[in-house]
Formats: sequence, C-alpha cells, structure tokens
Amino acid sequence: MTRVARSTRGPEITSRRERAEIEAYLRWLADCLDLKDWRVRLSDIPATEKTSAAEVEIIDNRRAAAVHIAADFRRITQVEQRHVLVHELLHCHTKAVADMVLAAGSESVLGSTAAAIFEAGYRNAEEDLVDRLAQFIAPRFPTRQEWSANI
Ligand SMILES: [Zn+2]
Repeated sequence: MTRVARSTRGPEITSRRERAEIEAYLRWLADCLDLKDWRVRLSDIPATEKTSAAEVEIIDNRRAAAVHIAADFRRITQVEQRHVLVHELLHCHTKAVADMVLAAGSESVLGSTAAAIFEAGYRNAEEDLVDRLAQFIAPRFPTRQEWSANI
C-alpha cells in the first residue's frame, strides 16, 4: 500500500488506453525488478483503502500479483506513479519474509492481543522498509511518460 496526496485537477477516471499503458509499464518495471518469473497484472478493481494510491494482492505460492490502483491514480504525478508502482512491486520480494514473520507471531503462538500488536508493528516496519527502498530504486527508472516515448 502506498499513500500519496492527490491533486483534484483533471479527470479522475483513468481511460482504458491509459490503463493498458500503465499495465505495460508495470510489467516492464516488474522485469527490471527481477520479477520476470512473476505474473503481474493491473487489476480492474480499485484500491480499497481511500487513502491508498495503490495496493498489491499477492497470490500465495504462485508468483502472481495483482496491483490495484486508486480510481484517481492519474491525479498523482508521473514521478509519484513510478514510486507507487515500484513500491507495490517490491512487496513481491518481501512476501516470503512477511509470511514467516507473521506465522511466528500468529494468534496461536502469541494470543490474539499480542498477535495484533505484533502484526501491526511488523506491517509498519515492512511499509517503511519497502517505501525507503522504493525511494532509492524508483528514480533509476524512467517515468511512464518517458518510458512510453521510447517504446
Ligand atoms: Zn506498501
């Protein structure tokens, strides 16, 4: 999940053509991020949290991910879009660690209250890690606009 402030200017809804371009760019970024063996697609279902620019849904043990972008994704800048997509893709690399850590801190191991605190702490730490990595990695790639001008 990535939170980014949005402008209220311009049309909110992303066109079908623009969605296709975002999906092709997402695929290209996934290849660059060593996710060539993953099936990565742009979901038709928007991100569920109102404050999220995007969310990723990873299908367990299938190397498959669906990225859900917010309905108003097009209202964030190209640089922010690149950051958000890289951030979501990096979660594919942290999924196995998350699964192990969260299993070790599950309700059956810790009890429900401690497990909830543990999970919230882990999720915050993972978000911080993934976002810091995305801040470092994303600027190494062209924005979607720069990328699409060169294909
Ligand atoms: Zn995230």
